[in-house]
Amino acid sequence: MDRERLYRTDGLILHRTDFGEADSLLTVFTPHLGRLRMLAKGARKPTSRKAGHVEPFTYVHLLVARGRNLDIVSQAEALESFRPLRESLERASQAYYLGELINSFIGEGDENPLLFDLALATLARLCEARDRMLVLRFFELHCLRLVGYQPQLHFCVECQTQLDPVTNYFHPPSGGMLCPRHGEAIRAAEPLAMPTFKVLRYVQTHPWDQVAILRVKPETHLDLEAVLQRYIVYLLERRLKSVEFIHRLRREVQISDGR
Ligand SMILES: [Zn+2]
Repeated sequence: MDRERLYRTDGLILHRTDFGEADSLLTVFTPHLGRLRMLAKGARKPTSRKAGHVEPFTYVHLLVARGRNLDIVSQAEALESFRPLRESLERASQAYYLGELINSFIGEGDENPLLFDLALATLARLCEARDRMLVLRFFELHCLRLVGYQPQLHFCVECQTQLDPVTNYFHPPSGGMLCPRHGEAIRAAEPLAMPTFKVLRYVQTHPWDQVAILRVKPETHLDLEAVLQRYIVYLLERRLKSVEFIHRLRREVQISDGR
C-alpha cells in the first residue's frame, strides 16, 4: 500500500453501523482531526481481527488509509474497551449521550485534544462513579467550555454585575445568567433554584475529584439536568435522541420499582 495514503490516529468510536455485507461504517472522534467517518472492511465477519476493536465507546489506535470517498481502517488496536458501558442499558444510554453531544459540537477537522481527554475520562467515570448524573453534568459544562459555549454563571450577562447568592435567572439566548432586575424583565428567563445555581457554579469551576464528593439531592439533580438540557437544545436547535431514551429508561425503572 502507498505509504502516503496512510495515517495513524487515536480515536474514540462514537458510532458503528452496518455497511454492505460484512463491513462497518464508523464515526470516530479523534484528538487532532475532529470527527471522521471511516469504513472497517469485514468487521462483521466472525473471523475479523478488527471486530472487537471497533465496538462503540472503544478507545482505539488506528492505522487508516485515505480513500477517494471514505477512509478505510487498515489496523485497529483497542487501548481501552470500557466494557461496563456495554453491560448496562443505563450506562450505555449515558455513553451514547456523550457521543451524541460530541457528534453535535465537533465536525471534521475540529482539533480538540482537551475534549478528547475529557471524553475518555468521562467514559471511565461512567464505568465507576457513584453519581453518574454528576459525571454527565461535569462533562456537559466542560464540553461547552471547550467548544466555546461556556454559560456565564458569575456575572449578569446584561449589566455585568457580579451575581449575589439570591434567586437569579437563566436565559439560554443570552448565554447565561441574569441578575434579578434583568431576569424579571425578560419573560423567557427562568428563575433558578439556589441549590441548582450553586452546584452549576461549583461544577464549572472545580476539578472532577472535588466535584465527585458532592452529595446532590435527587430534585436538584433533575433540575440541573433540565437547565443544561434547555441550554444545549437552544444551542443545537434540536433535541437529542439519547436524552429521550434516558428519560424513557428512567420512567420504566420507576414503574418496575413501583415508585
Ligand atoms: Zn443585570
